[in-house]
Amino acid sequence: MGVRKRKLTKEASPNIHMTKKCPECFAYLPLSVKVCTSCGKQVGPVNKLGHAEKLPNVMGYVTAVAAILAFIVFVWWGFFTEP
Ligand SMILES: [Zn+2]
Repeated sequence: MGVRKRKLTKEASPNIHMTKKCPECFAYLPLSVKVCTSCGKQVGPVNKLGHAEKLPNVMGYVTAVAAILAFIVFVWWGFFTEP
């Protein structure tokens, strides 16, 4: 039984892209930029398809958490405080 060496040439270069595409406006951007120069949206690192990854919307999460907390406070206030 001989040991075969298999070369993983396909997986050798994970990032062959020189530019990334803005997910919002599809402008081509340098890999290093974090904010789209065309539409001003924040862009993540390049993915396999050459597109910039969308960053999670932090403000959206903050707003959702704030809304949930406000609802909890509202329910608490409605049930546990005497008029
Ligand atoms: Zn853009």
